[in-house]
Amino acid sequence: MQPFFEPPHMPCEECGASVAREERDEHVCDQARRLDYVMFRLREEVEAFDQELVDYLHSPQGRFDAWLAERERKRRC
Ligand SMILES: [Zn+2]
Repeated sequence: MQPFFEPPHMPCEECGASVAREERDEHVCDQARRLDYVMFRLREEVEAFDQELVDYLHSPQGRFDAWLAERERKRRC
């Protein structure tokens, strides 16, 4: 008897795909699925990004950086 229950399939740590134990060594992640999985794991960070950007752009440092970037862009034209 096995000391611990081992499920026949395990999620791939990179892409989240359910992979049979005996096929783990041959598994190659689907890149589109891997991207979806990474974005899903980072969803809170991704959702927070927009507000963090708005907060930054309204801060003194953000306003200065935006002004500097615009000045630099105009100089290059
Ligand atoms: Zn994978």
